[in-house]
Amino acid sequence: MLVVNRGVIMRPIDADALNKKLQERVGSPESDELYEVNLCIIEAPTLGVVPVVHGRWLRQKMSAFVFKCSVCEFKFAGEVEIAKYCPNCGAKMDGR
Ligand SMILES: [Zn+2]
Repeated sequence: MLVVNRGVIMRPIDADALNKKLQERVGSPESDELYEVNLCIIEAPTLGVVPVVHGRWLRQKMSAFVFKCSVCEFKFAGEVEIAKYCPNCGAKMDGR
């Protein structure tokens, strides 16, 4: 899942799962390097709530069936009524 926050495309991750994966792949929790990495992950700011980005489909002049996402400019051909979210950036296409 990708989220656009203040114009930056972000991919929210599970910090606990990342810590577990690091321990599995890098080494024991007692190693100094892994300890520092774990601290960085623990102290990293959280989003709290995943922001919802709102967009709308903009009809293209060249075709009645080609639309462009107002957030990321991804072009979509087809029935926009059934595309409630942009498949490229994840914006909720509710016209706001
Ligand atoms: Zn988009």
